[in-house]
Amino acid sequence: MTTDSRSLEEILSRPPLTRGEIVELLSLPDPAPLFQKADQVRKKFVGDAVYLRGLIEFSNYCKNDCLYCGIRRSNANAVRYRMTPEEIYRTARQAVQNGYKTVVLQSGEDWWFDADKIASIIRQIKELGAAVTLSLGEKTREEYACYRKAGADRYLLRIETTDKALYETLDPQMSWDNRVRCLEDLKELGYEVGSGSLVGLPGQTAESLAEDLLFFKSLPVDMAGIGPFIPHPDTPLAQEKAEGHFELALKMMAIMRLILPDINIPATTAMETLHPQGRLLALQCGANVIMPNVTAETFCRNYALYPGKAHSAPSAAAAWNESLAAIGRTVSDGYGFHGDYLKSRN
Ligand code: SAH
Repeated sequence: MTTDSRSLEEILSRPPLTRGEIVELLSLPDPAPLFQKADQVRKKFVGDAVYLRGLIEFSNYCKNDCLYCGIRRSNANAVRYRMTPEEIYRTARQAVQNGYKTVVLQSGEDWWFDADKIASIIRQIKELGAAVTLSLGEKTREEYACYRKAGADRYLLRIETTDKALYETLDPQMSWDNRVRCLEDLKELGYEVGSGSLVGLPGQTAESLAEDLLFFKSLPVDMAGIGPFIPHPDTPLAQEKAEGHFELALKMMAIMRLILPDINIPATTAMETLHPQGRLLALQCGANVIMPNVTAETFCRNYALYPGKAHSAPSAAAAWNESLAAIGRTVSDGYGFHGDYLKSRN
């Protein structure tokens, strides 16, 4: 049944998983037992609470040219926008008033927002009593230190893929080693670090996906998001398909829950885009976080990383209780720091 001596039941119940076992789980024809196990592990380690992070997509200007991404600099069809610091602050304040405990600031690698501007936005938002997560791409250690000093709590930077050659093909002029350097700097500076990968990239193998999970374990990450790759029509990867990516992403996420049982795992927006119930399904396969978009529609409709990106109208955090109740879950009123679960276990 398995390529080595362990049965599926043993593999699922007794970590650590070997690289070969991860590959085997990724190719399971019937993933139901994997999903069930991931759900049990999620419940045991992080409970039934779901943490909401209000996502503000504040600029789609980007100096990079990632082949998969709709806001790559060469996409002349992208309608560019940049919210003002005041607009960002007002959006954050509205989110906090609506019950969000964390605000996530995400953008392309926009040169206009220098470290001083970002630091000043962070300081203002921290005064609202919110936790601040940043997702601004690759910066210098000094810039990361400056944001941290201003009060930023967490940073999200997906490795995208641990296959260095694939990364450097898909992200021209970028260096995989520099991306790892960023993640290491962020850890050393005391951020809670989120990473993650894209699943279904052309040329990506099950072995390299297994490697991604082992990489997250080695850092280790406090959070990791798995995004199914969805081809964007205005990119060089327009002809690729998204078929099978949703299920593969769910499998990756479920295996990640087994390997890193107490981290934060988001049910990603790209999952919702590929499946109408994608986020609720993900929450039942290991996820415990949702990042609802709280950006005004006039802006975020142009934050088109991939086509059909789901954006819900900004709503009160508590409004999520209704859909979550159907799967026996509730919105947490806590901050949901990974460090807090770790402390509560000691
Ligand atoms: N500039 C920031 C934020 C990038 S956008 C950074 O570099 O971290 C956030 C994420 O969107 C990326 O990390 C990537 O994983 C995802 N993404 C980009 N294009 C995508 C696509 N076509 N399909 C699915 N996810 C995509």
